[in-house]
Amino acid sequence: MAAPFRLKSMLALVTGGGSGIGRAVSQRLSLEGASVAVVDLDVSSAIETLQMLSRGLPGQEHEAFAADVSQLQSVEALIEQVQSRFSLSPRIAVNSAGITRDEFLLRLSEESFDSVLSVNLKGPFLITQAVARAVVASGQNGGSIINIGSIVGKVGNLGQSNYAASKAGVEGLTRTAAKELARFGIRCNTVVPGFISTPMTQRVPQKVLDKFAGMIPLGRLGDPEDVADVCAFLASDDSKYITGASIEVTGGLFL
Ligand code: NAD
Repeated sequence: MAAPFRLKSMLALVTGGGSGIGRAVSQRLSLEGASVAVVDLDVSSAIETLQMLSRGLPGQEHEAFAADVSQLQSVEALIEQVQSRFSLSPRIAVNSAGITRDEFLLRLSEESFDSVLSVNLKGPFLITQAVARAVVASGQNGGSIINIGSIVGKVGNLGQSNYAASKAGVEGLTRTAAKELARFGIRCNTVVPGFISTPMTQRVPQKVLDKFAGMIPLGRLGDPEDVADVCAFLASDDSKYITGASIEVTGGLFL
């Protein structure tokens, strides 16, 4: 277990916070002392996450917000709501909202391509831009933006050309944001999970999961908490000299 309260007095915004990795990240950041704005398209799931968060420090509060990260208006409204609820801007953002629409390339529809790119790539762009603008406008530099990529963005995967393209894009977006935002003290990094047990992977056929599990040197699928550990590190000053990096959390898959 990491040092306690590394994120004391920090406000963190976590998209996709109603499920899987985003929920585990919200829990972990709260254990480290952060107040958390839990954001999800499905607000009831975000409200469920709220019940699981730690409130170990005086003044530590959390709130659930409904937003569609793929829509500019929704993201702008979200940032306004968060600022008004907490009377400050988030300096930590974890972009975990994501979807799959799997289909072989020869059959993939334009709609499935566009929707995956909109949520998985445009979403992190809109949130990064909105959070960075808020930090700059506040006149107080400093922040950490963490985007959840995927090992599939590096190696490709059958039936996931849209998803792989979106996740490769996330790494390019993050590296560029890191260069542009460094002068404001905002670090931007990508966490690159392999196969993690969440509702998203529950939709993958068992025989495919078994095949990948057999290829993982550490011998198991990852848990959402394995990803949350790395997000907490990247959110904290323990990673203060790390920006533009991609950190794989794969159990050694595809080394
Ligand atoms: P999940 O399906 O459990 O959770 C995703 C959450 O995102 C859901 O709560 C969903 O409601 C929310 N969401 C979807 N569209 C949204 C939108 N437009 N606006 C706001 N919220 C939206 O998935 P997960 O496994 O926790 O995945 C989290 C992230 O990790 C995703 O970006 C995913 O691509 C990535 N990832 C997952 C794995 C894995 O094996 N599970 C591996 C690599 C990367």
